[in-house]
Amino acid sequence: MTQRFSFALHATDGKARTGMISTPRGEIRTPAFMPVGTAATVKAMMPESVRATGADILLGNTYHLMLRPTAERIDRLGGLHKFMNWDRPILTDSGGFQVMSLADLRKLTEEGVTFRSHVDGSRHMLTPERSMEIQKLLGSDIVMCFDECPALPAPRERIAESMRLSMRWAARSREAFGDRPGHALFGIQQGGDIEDLRGESAEKLRGIGFDGYAVGGLAVGEGQEIMFKVLDYAPGMLPEDKPRYLMGVGKPDDILGAVKRGIDMFDCVLPSRSGRTGQAFTRRGVVNIKNARHADDPRPLDESCSCPACSQYSRAYLHHVFRSQEIISSMLLTWHNLHYYQVLMQGIRDAIAAGRFDAFEAEFHAARAMGDIEPL
Ligand SMILES: [Zn+2]
Repeated sequence: MTQRFSFALHATDGKARTGMISTPRGEIRTPAFMPVGTAATVKAMMPESVRATGADILLGNTYHLMLRPTAERIDRLGGLHKFMNWDRPILTDSGGFQVMSLADLRKLTEEGVTFRSHVDGSRHMLTPERSMEIQKLLGSDIVMCFDECPALPAPRERIAESMRLSMRWAARSREAFGDRPGHALFGIQQGGDIEDLRGESAEKLRGIGFDGYAVGGLAVGEGQEIMFKVLDYAPGMLPEDKPRYLMGVGKPDDILGAVKRGIDMFDCVLPSRSGRTGQAFTRRGVVNIKNARHADDPRPLDESCSCPACSQYSRAYLHHVFRSQEIISSMLLTWHNLHYYQVLMQGIRDAIAAGRFDAFEAEFHAARAMGDIEPL
């Protein structure tokens, strides 16, 4: 197995790409979907179950882990992989986005962000240097630059100022990360929905040089239409021979549209969070398992799905355990949703390799337009 981080493109179809990221901890097939393991667990799932769905890599959240149980404790216990019993690649975010959305009493300066923990009120500071240190203590395979971004819509001045600060932080992140063979550092493009600012950001990042590049500052309230409009030009500003990651996205149709525009990696809490609230993703759209129509339905959630929820249980059972608030409800629906996402990604990869991405996309939308199976 390789001891270095590398990326190889295997095929393209229009702007859509399929390939492979190689790391010392394993290979990541792209386009890839990363389940989110916020607090060193993908909620309601055993790590081996997450792997069984087809996930090659997980995402961990710096902000949550630095507050509890702390990066220093995880380091003492042998690192995040050992701590959570996941030996494959892990990508960690920088903490920047979650500090701005979750922490109390935030203060943003050139140096970094000071804030109070939402867990116990303790005071902390995150800087590019501290974020790199935490991600190293965790043992993350793919480290993200520390950055900051406004919710959209925002005025141009605010977007520009924030992007330029993030680019200065990107240079500091690169410097602090140093030379760590086998580990990757990704830069994050900012610039909101303004094309020339996206270009300025991409140029800065390319000048610094990273192992991969994220399109940041999207999925922050702008809606799919604006997101796609930005993705029509933003990924093409980033190096072609490095992976491109769209952070925090998304719904199945968001992912399909982003792959079509040149994105290789995704993460989102949607499949796991929805699993806990009774929402199941299927080829024919979202099924709300709590609806009374499922109470007597002996059929599987999705007859074409091979996950445990669909192959071993009925809609009636899934409805019952959700209504009864049984733990197995979250377990089965999360497994199903993560399985659905990974099957979708495999379908996308196969379609790109076969040069039939457009046909795959048309079939995807046609199946969803049918809606759920008729009630009995
Ligand atoms: Zn299933």
